Amino acid sequence: MTKRPLRPFIRVLSILIACLLISTVASANIELFKHSPVPGGIAVVPLAMSGDTKPTVSFNKKTVAVMQRGNDWVAVVGIPLSTKAGDHSLAVTRGDISRDIMFSVRPHEYAEQRIKIKNKRKVDPLPFDMDRINAEKARVAEVRTIHTDGALERPFVWPVKGIISSPFGLRRFFNDKPRRPHGGIDIAANEGVPIVAPADGVVVETGDYFFNGNCVFIEHGSGLITFYAHMSRIDVAIGDKVTAGEMIGAIGATGRVTGPHLHWSVGLNGTWIDPMLFVAE
Ligand SMILES: [Zn+2]
Repeated sequence: MTKRPLRPFIRVLSILIACLLISTVASANIELFKHSPVPGGIAVVPLAMSGDTKPTVSFNKKTVAVMQRGNDWVAVVGIPLSTKAGDHSLAVTRGDISRDIMFSVRPHEYAEQRIKIKNKRKVDPLPFDMDRINAEKARVAEVRTIHTDGALERPFVWPVKGIISSPFGLRRFFNDKPRRPHGGIDIAANEGVPIVAPADGVVVETGDYFFNGNCVFIEHGSGLITFYAHMSRIDVAIGDKVTAGEMIGAIGATGRVTGPHLHWSVGLNGTWIDPMLFVAE
């Protein structure tokens, strides 16, 4: 009975601590997103708005991550590899106010890569394969729009240690045919080596895809998505919560590959950006 008067005090104290934790996390998060305004990079764009209400921002009609830096709101924009250098605009709304905010993208030249694939069907799929490929494309487009409230708290840990055999952004030719640029990095490792989650998140998709083989998608908050392909084994299921360093599967050579490796992609506002922006050096 004598303890009862203390309860409201404890409740207030715990709310204060929670607020303090949230604000600490919010200010730490934004520093993990490095302003690197090139195609395949990130633009950190001040919105000239403060206050408690978070503005809504979109780029190319896709929802963009919005975070607090000090008292001000900033947009953290993933820039598609196909973006032209020059000025681009974000659509910003809060309450009744709508405005466009401009940001600049600098040019960046990525190298070219030519790969020989023995399985010709993985370069020029059969009409029969196209149904499966198109269904997978639609599923990935859906997964890439998942955007929860959380945000990254710490730099990524490497999902696997190994030599980067192919960097992000390469303009690729398979058997001399131009294909989409490389939307991730390839890390060479032996079949069966464990792959771990680089940060806390939720598994939003797993599957055996035509090009990607066994693959996993994780959302880490604010629409930050990581993607793992060509796995020999998947150890997680859709809806699983994972923590940084937790095993999600193993290195393999499934899908369109020339040998065992991890293809690792990082997405923001539905577009693939350079994973190297997120790992501690
Ligand atoms: Zn790759």
